[in-house]
Amino acid sequence: MLRITELRLPIDHPPEALPAAIATRLKVPGKDISRFTIFRQSVDARRVGAPSFIYAVDVEVKREAELLQRFAADPHVSAAPDMTYRFVAQAPAGGLKTPRPLIVGFGPCGIFAALVLAQMGLRPIVVERGRAVRERTQDTWGLWRKNTLNPESNVQFGEGGAGTFSDGKLYSQIRDPQHHGRKVLTEFVKAGAPAEILTLAKPHIGTFRLVSMVETMRHEIEALGGEIRFEQRVADLLLQDDPAQPGMRRLRGVRLASGEEIESHHVVLALGHSARDTFAMLHEAGVAMEAKPFSVGFRIEHPQSLIDRARYGRHAGDTRLGAADYKLVHHASNGRTVYSFCMCPGGTVVAATSEPGCVVTNGMSQYSRNERNANAGIVVNVSPADFGGEPGDPLAGIAFQRRLEARAFELGGGNYEAPAQRVGDFLAGRPSTQLGEVVPSYKPGVRPTDLSTALPDWAIAALREAIPAFEKQIKGFSLPDAVLTGVETRTSSPLRMPRGDDLQSVNVRGLYPGGEGAGYAGGILSAGVDGIRIAEALALDLLAAEAGG
Ligand code: FAD
Repeated sequence: MLRITELRLPIDHPPEALPAAIATRLKVPGKDISRFTIFRQSVDARRVGAPSFIYAVDVEVKREAELLQRFAADPHVSAAPDMTYRFVAQAPAGGLKTPRPLIVGFGPCGIFAALVLAQMGLRPIVVERGRAVRERTQDTWGLWRKNTLNPESNVQFGEGGAGTFSDGKLYSQIRDPQHHGRKVLTEFVKAGAPAEILTLAKPHIGTFRLVSMVETMRHEIEALGGEIRFEQRVADLLLQDDPAQPGMRRLRGVRLASGEEIESHHVVLALGHSARDTFAMLHEAGVAMEAKPFSVGFRIEHPQSLIDRARYGRHAGDTRLGAADYKLVHHASNGRTVYSFCMCPGGTVVAATSEPGCVVTNGMSQYSRNERNANAGIVVNVSPADFGGEPGDPLAGIAFQRRLEARAFELGGGNYEAPAQRVGDFLAGRPSTQLGEVVPSYKPGVRPTDLSTALPDWAIAALREAIPAFEKQIKGFSLPDAVLTGVETRTSSPLRMPRGDDLQSVNVRGLYPGGEGAGYAGGILSAGVDGIRIAEALALDLLAAEAGG
C-alpha cells in the first residue's frame, strides 16, 4: 500500500476527480489502481476566497515496489505505515497474584490507561472523585443555570474528565511514532464517534456524543473485569522507603477521603490540571514536582459569520467546509507571546471553575457547531518567574491562577457571573457599561466592566497590542462589539511531575503521573495517548514483578 500526501483539489470537485488525481500523480493508468482510502482530508484556507481540500490517500496499485523506487526522492509518495495497535503484554491465564493496578481519575488519560490495561486482562480499578456522567451533567448545569457550584462534580471533575463538556477537538501536534493516536480515535469510533474522525485533519465530536461515548467505554472496561468507582477522592498515598534504592520511596496503595485504603503497587495519577488539593497532598507527601509555564487571558467572541467570511470569502457558509476556525499568534513588543487557544467555532463560552469563589472561562460546542458565535481563548504566556511566592515553590502557579480567578469572581459580582468587556472599550481603555450586537454566550451570565485589572499589566499590554494585529489575519477580529470574557487560566497544568524513562515518578516507585495534570499532555487526544503509553509501561513492570523479575 502506498501513501500519497498533498493531493489538492477544489472544494467542489466531483468524487471521480480524486482517483483521477491519484493516477495522474503516480503517472499510471486508472485501471492499475485497485483500491484507495482517504487517510486524511484537510481544508487549506490560506488564500481567502479560494479554499481547497488537501488529501492524503492510501492506495493499492499494481507494481508498488517499482513505484516506490521511482518516487524515492518524492516526500509525498511513500509506503503506508502499519498503524495496527499491538498489545505489549497479556495477563497470565490464572490472573494476577499481586494487587491490581489502580487509576486515579477517569478523564481521557485515565480512560485509555484503564481501557488498555483491561484489554490486556489486568482488571484495573479506577477511582474518580466526581460523579458518573449523567449526574455530572446535572451538576454542571447547576452552575450554568442556577449559579450553584458542586466542587466535586463540575466541568473539570467527573466521569469523562475535563474534555466532556467541550468542542471535542481531537488533534494534537505530539510526536506519535507508535501511532497511539490512531488507537485513541479507533476506540472513540467503536464507542460511537463518527467514523470521519479517522480521516478529517481537524476532527471534533462535540459535547452531546462525548457523554454517551464515555459511558460506552466505561461499560467495556467493566465487561473486561475492570472496576470504576465514582465519588471517591484519593486523599493520601501509602508510601514506604525503598530498601533497594536509598532516597526513593515505594507505593503500597492509596487512602480515600472516606478513610478506606486500597492496596496497589502500580498507581496511575491521571488527575487533570485542576486537582489543586491533590497536588498539595502529593507535594506534602514528597512526590517530585516543579512549577511550569502556562498561559492566561480572556475568551473572545465574534459572530461566526464574520470568521467564516474572513476565512472562506465567497465560500462562507458552504456546508462542505463547516464553520471556520482560526489559529493566531502574536509576539508582543514586551516579549510576551499572545495566541489563540482552544478555538470553538459555532460554540459557547462556558463557566469552567471547580473551586468556590472563582470564575474561569473555557469553550465548548455541539457536533453541528451551529451556535451564533465563534469563541477562543486569547492568552499570554506566563512562567514561574511571574508567579510570585517562595522561589521554587511547585504550587506557586496554582496560587497565581487562584488570585486571578478570585479577582474575576469579584469583578463579575460575586455570583459566578463573569466580567466582560467590549473589545472597542478594552482597546480604548474605558470600562464597558453595556454590551453591543455580539451577545455573550457565557452562562450564568456576564457583567459589563473594565477587564484591565483582571490580569497583570504586562498581559493587558500584550493583549491590547495583539488584538489589532490579529485583524490583519482575520478581518473584523477587532470588531468593537466583539466581547471579551474573563478569565482564562486553566490552559494547561501549572506544574509538572517529572518521571523517568519507565514513566514512573522520579522518586516514587510504582507511581505513574500522566496526562494533562502531570504536564505530559495538552488536550483529549494527547492525554489519551499518554494513558496508553502508561498502560504499556505499567503492564510490563507489573508482569515482570509478577514473574519475580
Ligand atoms: P482530566 O480530563 O482533567 O481528568 C482528570 C480526572 O481526575 C477528573 O475527572 C477529576 O475528577 C479526577 N480527579 C482529580 N483528582 C482526583 C482525586 N484526588 N481522586 C480521584 N479523582 C480525581 N481538549 C481538546 O483536545 N479538545 C477540546 O475541544 C477541548 N475542549 C475543552 C473544553 C473545556 C470546557 C475544558 C475544561 C477542557 C477542554 N479540553 C479540550 C482540554 C481537555 O479536556 C484536557 O486536556 C483533557 O481532558 C486532559 O485529560 P486528563 O485525563 O489528563 O485530565
